[in-house]
Amino acid sequence: MPEPTSSTGDNKSLPPGMVLGPDGKPCKICTAFRNWKPADTPKRGQDGSKPAPGIAATMAAMAAGGGAAVSQPDSDVRPEYCPPDVEQLGRATWTFLHTTAAYYPEKPTQNQRANMLTLLRSLPVLYPCSHCASHLDTNIRENPPDVSGRIALSRWLCERHNDVNVRLGKPEFDCSIKKTDERWKDGPSDGSCD
Ligand SMILES: Cc1cc2nc3c(=O)[nH]c(=O)nc-3n(C[C@H](O)[C@H](O)[C@H](O)COP(=O)(O)OP(=O)(O)OC[C@H]3O[C@@H](n4cnc5c(N)ncnc54)[C@H](O)[C@@H]3O)c2cc1C
Repeated sequence: MPEPTSSTGDNKSLPPGMVLGPDGKPCKICTAFRNWKPADTPKRGQDGSKPAPGIAATMAAMAAGGGAAVSQPDSDVRPEYCPPDVEQLGRATWTFLHTTAAYYPEKPTQNQRANMLTLLRSLPVLYPCSHCASHLDTNIRENPPDVSGRIALSRWLCERHNDVNVRLGKPEFDCSIKKTDERWKDGPSDGSCD
């Protein structure tokens, strides 16, 4: 699969950060929403007739006592009925995967191991963000999934997530079972999530 192209400021026809898909066209599910349209492009409402104010802009205006009359849409925030961008899809997928790993059995049956392997090996084939899928494919080939039990699986998944974090310039997560369980199963010891 060809590497995606992220446009730069040199390309006047595409907003910076727009990612092109394998077909050379702008790839919506590969791109963060804030990079999908130039900031000064008004977004349209659900009926396609007029620009819709973003949630943050609406809430800010209401907090300021101005009701919902907002003149300028918030270019980074979309209404909840909009399709996901690469970041929303990523957060939802990581939530599903880490939570599933956290609740995976300590001693899985052969059938559970086989199903987990199928799930993980399906991701590079089916994940809609093509360049994410391509990187994941390479990553899984180099680091085969450890489905022997929930501690090993949680660590393996945490490390794969960290590989993406590093590639995106984000901080790495502590992959000890204490920290992954705290984040995805038990919540912090201060009880703030109980
Ligand atoms: C398989 C896959 C591949 C992806 N590839 C790309 C890509 O190539 N390019 C791209 O732009 N985006 C990619 N994404 C999306 C990207 O990883 C993020 O989901 C997205 O940028 C949103 O990031 P975020 O900072 O909100 O937190 P996320 O990275 O989505 O993390 C969600 C939460 O998980 C926790 N967390 C963070 N790291 C770890 C870890 N290592 N282990 C356990 N928990 C952790 C944190 O509490 C964090 O708030 C990919 C997503 C997936 C699922």
